[in-house]
Amino acid sequence: MPSSKHYLTKSKFLSGLQCRKKLWLGVNHPELATPPSLKQQFIFDSGYEFEDIVMKRYPEGVLVEFEKLDRMVSITNDLVNDNAPVIFQGAFYHKGVYVISDIIRKNQDGTWELKEMKASTGVKDVHFPDLAIQKYILENNGLYVSDTYVIHIDTSGNLPDLNSMVGVEKTTANVAEFNVGEVVNNFQELIREETEPDVMIGEHCTKPYECEFKDYCWKDIDEYSMLNFPRMTWKKKLQFYSSGIRSINEIPPETKLTDNQQDYVNRLTNKTVDIDSEAIKKKLSELEYPLYFFDFETTQRAIPRWEGIHPYQQIPFQWSCHIMQENGEITHEEYLHDNESDPRFGLAEALVNTVGNTGSVIAYNAVFESNELKKLADAFPQFADRLLSIESRLWDQLDIFRKYYKDYRFGGSNSIKRVLPVIDPELDHKNLELSSGDEADVYWYMMLDETDPGKKAELRNTLLEYCKLDTWAMVVIHKHLDSL
Ligand code: SF4
Repeated sequence: MPSSKHYLTKSKFLSGLQCRKKLWLGVNHPELATPPSLKQQFIFDSGYEFEDIVMKRYPEGVLVEFEKLDRMVSITNDLVNDNAPVIFQGAFYHKGVYVISDIIRKNQDGTWELKEMKASTGVKDVHFPDLAIQKYILENNGLYVSDTYVIHIDTSGNLPDLNSMVGVEKTTANVAEFNVGEVVNNFQELIREETEPDVMIGEHCTKPYECEFKDYCWKDIDEYSMLNFPRMTWKKKLQFYSSGIRSINEIPPETKLTDNQQDYVNRLTNKTVDIDSEAIKKKLSELEYPLYFFDFETTQRAIPRWEGIHPYQQIPFQWSCHIMQENGEITHEEYLHDNESDPRFGLAEALVNTVGNTGSVIAYNAVFESNELKKLADAFPQFADRLLSIESRLWDQLDIFRKYYKDYRFGGSNSIKRVLPVIDPELDHKNLELSSGDEADVYWYMMLDETDPGKKAELRNTLLEYCKLDTWAMVVIHKHLDSL
């Protein structure tokens, strides 16, 4: 067994398939990786919840606890020799490669079924090499694999029936197509190389997984780089790049671009701001007072906590609403669900009691609020009329920035996170402890699970502050648009 760091594991093997440099860095310079974000950690943890559900389907299973790989291999070997019918997290080693298999199950004829648990909503291409490397190592240990399976999340299921959320697909044929041995030899040579492989950044930096070395590899790529050109295919970006055009300033004037791409180039190179004040005025004239500036925070969880909710179903748990009267007076209302029950009823009830029967409801990317309001109306018929009335009065502030207001400082995006700091540099989400909407639900679950009242209150305040800034940002943007 290898004494140095130069061994492969299943995850290193998959890293190498995504990018040779990712594999090399992972083995030789793991310190350059960006640690997982709170959100990524939350997603990993949701995966463990799913695994617990699946493992309960095999009461005869024996778990090999995580510890040093060689020790896990030895324990697994003992279990196989003792005729264990099902082994969870069995570890195997062969010529410099370790794999840990989620579930192996012995058939009556002495062959084994290999099952990989994935908290995804179906089988993905990346699962085939994942199973193929396991099959290869198991068979080199004398365990013949009859069939391979992916056990994934079935989004048609719901609580309280845990089994309804588990789907199984046989992948034997796809896995058999993969030639593992040759790739393993190639990767084993690669990880021993002295110097970092020269790999161009590209689409593979985010597909099939976000690479943990992205901050390192992309550190010199600024917003003028062709590689950061928004809404351009990777094929086209790389064509420019490899022909020597590294920055948008270097694009020859005769180059054929789409109208939107050309607009973006012109704006960034000339540092221009295009504002169609007349169109904005006309659009604003559609609004009726009182104005409700409104935003939901939502969550999607692999294994839902409440009955009737499907895996990964999006549900709201918080809203914020700034209300502006015609005389300019502004008040603020909010709702944050803070106990263990399904958040939707209390949230919907508070909402219909806050938003009146008249007045425009301003959201940023209103299609999102529209969907959530319709789903709430479906779930709670007693509030349906009033929820659908709110939905029918939605007015999208994002439309202005899609059509009538372009600023080179938005960097080709029109998200509120890019627009706000340009319109009001003091008001930036980055100044908040919770600076990304992605992590709001992570904070929410932390708050629900927190037992220390002081820490719970702090988490509650953090969430309220974040969501309030989102709707205050819309007020600030509205005032700015109104003043043009
Ligand atoms: S960021 Fe991209 S180029 Fe760099 S190691 Fe990751 S996948 Fe490879």
